[in-house]
Amino acid sequence: MRAFDFESRMPRVVFGVGSLQHLGREIDRIGAKRALVLSTPGQVGIANRVASMLGSRLAGVYTKAVMHVPIESAREARDEARRLGADCAVAVGGGSTTGLGKAIALESSSQRPLPILAIPTTYAGSEMTPIYGITDAGVKKTGRDERVLPRTVIYDPELTLTVPLGLTITSGLNAIAHAAEGLYAHDGNPIVGLMAEEGIRAIAGAMRRLSGNPLALEARSDALYGAWLCGVVLGHVSMGLHHKLCHTLCGTFNLPHADVHAVILPHALAYNARQAPEAMRRIANALGAGGRSNGSSEAPALMFDLALRHKAPMALKDIGMREDGLDRAAELAVRDQYPNPRPLQKAAIRELIQRAFDGVRPG
Ligand code: NAD
Repeated sequence: MRAFDFESRMPRVVFGVGSLQHLGREIDRIGAKRALVLSTPGQVGIANRVASMLGSRLAGVYTKAVMHVPIESAREARDEARRLGADCAVAVGGGSTTGLGKAIALESSSQRPLPILAIPTTYAGSEMTPIYGITDAGVKKTGRDERVLPRTVIYDPELTLTVPLGLTITSGLNAIAHAAEGLYAHDGNPIVGLMAEEGIRAIAGAMRRLSGNPLALEARSDALYGAWLCGVVLGHVSMGLHHKLCHTLCGTFNLPHADVHAVILPHALAYNARQAPEAMRRIANALGAGGRSNGSSEAPALMFDLALRHKAPMALKDIGMREDGLDRAAELAVRDQYPNPRPLQKAAIRELIQRAFDGVRPG
């Protein structure tokens, strides 16, 4: 085993069916008195439900979170928090809502950024990371800052029962992507590796059951548990080509986030397969290949089949990408060098993007 450093940076977690009832206790625990509840417009119902549980701890509700966190909305929400005298933010929703909470924490000029209590309702995993993203003048800037890591996360699987099956699958694949890239990260370690493998196994298994019955609470619990683990992986180690490509495609071509992850993942794995055989073996095993797996050749195809079986979008051309943007996407993907098992080669990446555009099975 090679030497490694491991510094745990995880929020406190309250997990389980019905755990939302502990929200008041958790706000007291972080020493806050007045919470601003955040959500997307689509989640007003649940935001109001959460607000109604807070009694005198409620400062207000802000329901204008949108994907990719435009800086204007972060500033508006920050000003709202000030106006209402809020001393913490309760972000209830997916990555967009958690992202807004993070942006408020960054935008607050005081020495003590607004602490975030996150209640995730998708599998994106942002609640477990110190990673933020803010879009300013059409350009999304991302970075890491410990100030944006939520203080507490409440995972209540009941809140995910309403996630439509399509988003359940693509969001689950988004989580699996964090774990898959964590397994071949240059700064990975055995602890994160365990979480990554278990996270993939939990989500892939839950997907099978949820496809038959999206209301299966036990499977919803397993999916959220998996998302938690995959989020921890994302928060602790560096991501590679897959995340870079998704970031480029979403940001530059305005494609839907979870769908892009679902389409790109098998192809990014295929690109890296030969250079990361051990990671591929573990991915294939977690997807159910068993000990007989020849991961390098199998993992990308198994990932493709997982997405296909669960009716995820399979091709960039089906989710709004135009073919005349493929050259530019390849250029952007190699513009900055970053660690990846296989060196970034523009021609090979252009080929990868073409295959993803057409939705061709890897291998
Ligand atoms: P999202 O938060 O935009 O949610 C997608 C849609 O699902 C929204 O319309 C939302 O209202 C709806 N929704 C959420 N929960 C629901 C529920 N329980 N029932 C029904 N509908 C529900 O999408 P996302 O995929 O969760 O997050 C994507 C964003 O998060 C992207 O901007 C991405 O860059 C960011 N992200 C950040 C990190 C990080 O570590 N910083 C990690 C992953 C994703």
